[in-house]
Amino acid sequence: MDRVFIKNYTLKELEAWVESIGERRFRARQLFCHIYARRVRSWEECSDLSKMFRVQMEYGTHLDAIRLMEVRESGDGTRKYLWELPDGLTVESVLIPDAPRCTLCISSQVGCALGCKFCLTGAMGFKRDLTVAEIVDQVCQTMHHLDSGSRITNLVFMGMGEPLANYDAVVRSIQVLSDPEGMAFSHRKITLSTAGLVPQLARLGKESPVNLAISLHAPNDELRSTLMPVNRRHPLAELMAACRKYPLAPRKRITFEYILLEGVNDEPEQARDVAGLLRGVKAKVNLIPFNPYPGSPFKQPSERRVSAFQEALLRAQLTVMVRQSRGADISAACGQLAARAAGE
Ligand code: SAH
Ligand code: SF4
Repeated sequence: MDRVFIKNYTLKELEAWVESIGERRFRARQLFCHIYARRVRSWEECSDLSKMFRVQMEYGTHLDAIRLMEVRESGDGTRKYLWELPDGLTVESVLIPDAPRCTLCISSQVGCALGCKFCLTGAMGFKRDLTVAEIVDQVCQTMHHLDSGSRITNLVFMGMGEPLANYDAVVRSIQVLSDPEGMAFSHRKITLSTAGLVPQLARLGKESPVNLAISLHAPNDELRSTLMPVNRRHPLAELMAACRKYPLAPRKRITFEYILLEGVNDEPEQARDVAGLLRGVKAKVNLIPFNPYPGSPFKQPSERRVSAFQEALLRAQLTVMVRQSRGADISAACGQLAARAAGE
């Protein structure tokens, strides 16, 4: 029998699985607590389980789904984790301490099929979806690696891949991560960033309403379609209608991410068009000065141009933040994540 990756299961699925191997249902809750609340490193540590059951777990399951290959720490405290998957492919997660918060940015796919023109992950193409276990284990194993006293407060699906293109695994991983018997991350502490897969966005709102970030990056269809081919499938009118319908917790807003590319989308008139597009939407805007990588055709605008763009949005009564680029010295900033083989 193949060994199962135990972190692929939600608590409910784990109950079905323990019954399928002839154990009592309540064992699932015990296992779940060991795996996610206590975060044991081996079944031996689970002394409330019989020796027989521990041996069965040892030979029948994989507790770890990914293996830490390398950690790099940036001058600003950001850490980039490189993980090896069971088939030898690699993905990255980025830990961003920003007291009192500490955010972990996780990956949902190896590569990405959506091919946005400003994104290194897009440039490497799509390799495969991550499994639930591979997503969840980025969080578990980063927790093992934290300094004592620190803890992860927020999770963002903003690493490699388009999370809504791997919908089922992402939603099930959120179920595992938010389970009160385990790591108990509240949905309010989890943010999913999407390039705008509209049908899945509507499902997400109904099935797993986490915070939403939309990669906007252009104020009109013409420009957005050249930068983000997905816009041809789901143009702005459709995307904005889905945003208006997305269920938001009280006082929550949708974050609209906007990369600033010099001379392409950073003119003050374009800021006014962005404001027009967001009228009536509970929105805040996150400006991300483009993070360059070798071979990319775009340039990061000067601080003066970034401020001028921000000013124009502020004048239109929008809440705007400029995302400080973290970890750029170790290629951990937004859009700089790619598998090793793709050119680090
Ligand atoms: N696929 C999802 C989530 C991963 S990308 C999405 O596109 O939203 C996370 C964020 O980084 C997105 O807003 C993305 O547009 C942005 N990004 C990609 N490449 C970048 C770059 N070179 N510089 C700055 N931000 C970039
Ligand atoms: Fe994929 Fe997001 Fe990169 Fe676009 S920006 S290619 S959707 S990871």
